Amino acid sequence: MIQLREAQQFVINQCPPLGQLALPLQEALDCVIGDSVVATESIPPFTNSAMDGYAVRSADTVGAPVRLAVIGSIMAGQVLNEDLAPGQAARIMTGAPVPGGADAVCMIEETDDHDEGRSVTIRREVRRGEFVRQQGRDVGIGDVVASAGTVLSPAHLGVLANQGVLSVLVHPHPHVGVLSTGDELYTGTGPLPPGKIRDANRHSLLALVRREGWNVTDLGIVGDDDESLRQRLTTAASTCDAIITSGGVSVGDLDLVRVVLDDLSGRTMRWMQVAIRPAKPLAFGLLADSGTPVFGLPGNPVSAMVSFELFARPALRAMGGHRSLHRPVVPAVTDVNLERRRDGKLHLLRARVSLDNRGGWHVETTDGQESHHLQSMSEANALILLPDGSGARAGDLVDVVVLGANDLTRDGAVVTEHDRQMTMS
Ligand code: AMP
Ligand code: MG
Repeated sequence: MIQLREAQQFVINQCPPLGQLALPLQEALDCVIGDSVVATESIPPFTNSAMDGYAVRSADTVGAPVRLAVIGSIMAGQVLNEDLAPGQAARIMTGAPVPGGADAVCMIEETDDHDEGRSVTIRREVRRGEFVRQQGRDVGIGDVVASAGTVLSPAHLGVLANQGVLSVLVHPHPHVGVLSTGDELYTGTGPLPPGKIRDANRHSLLALVRREGWNVTDLGIVGDDDESLRQRLTTAASTCDAIITSGGVSVGDLDLVRVVLDDLSGRTMRWMQVAIRPAKPLAFGLLADSGTPVFGLPGNPVSAMVSFELFARPALRAMGGHRSLHRPVVPAVTDVNLERRRDGKLHLLRARVSLDNRGGWHVETTDGQESHHLQSMSEANALILLPDGSGARAGDLVDVVVLGANDLTRDGAVVTEHDRQMTMS
């Protein structure tokens, strides 16, 4: 058996980043930029108002209330082609450029207008710079707005758009083909014929790929037939950056994926027995003709998903240029006893992790830990990493891989200190 870390490293090492490509911002979410982007424009591009109100010279408001003459009105998108002289103010809306001469804005709620808007009373003294957004305060020309290796978030896309950047050089998302194998897989819609099962893996794996934002091709199902498998993999390699298969990598008579992959990889494929449970067998190799990585995942539905998490996902992230490849692992208190026997393997238990309202992580297993218990995987949002040994007792700290972070609090909503104060008052 090979240890998990070593197997992961073996796979990741053969999945270098895809070459960079200029993509429109709309397609660049979660992509990694190869080179830093430097600002060529300052943000805000001009000094503007943070409030609806009146642009004033702060010195004029000393001894307020004071009455000022209103020389114009500036909406967002407009400019006032006149500077304020002493004793003057201009009506101004949020985002409109502060006119020359003005150095502060008084919010509308602290003013009274007179003479059909021709003059205004400023009720209190206004500090210099109040409610004024200075040009370049957010970003200055020459600032690095996204450094090399950045994973583009929605905010980064906005920051780039602010710079007038419409397309950006990134490592593209990998294009991944997903194939199911096995004579037992039934493609019809009617009742199952004897001995047949439905194809769960293709749907789970396609969804896991799609959830990363990557591009997918559904490669369908092939039976346990040497020639069809060979053909399907070879054809897929012309459009896919990587291929994921499930089934056919155990020691059974018709476990042909490892046989065909061994051949197509020019005998460089590695068939591994990883010291984990579930997902022990893994076949990984590069197709000799195209260099396309093929992840031969096990057929049992939970094994396939766990194997995707442990091997395919980090390696495909590496292809996308990511520097952080693995999911976060957090220490959590197990609320149940976790029993196991020594077998030389790291056990990955399907579990639900949650945060109590003091920020403590808790975890409990979901029902059914056999590798075909897909239902219990559907109830899990985490995997407990239970090292070789005799298990853990309720109350112990265990390491937990967080798979999904959308449902971490037990009551579905984070109750903040602010909420508590609001309810008490
Ligand atoms: P194999 O590795 O091909 O021997 O498959 C191991 C187990 O996974 C067998 O019980 C298969 O029937 C099952 N299996 C293989 N492929 C799928 C699939 N696509 N969906 C559901 N179960 C599968
Ligand atoms: Mg099979």
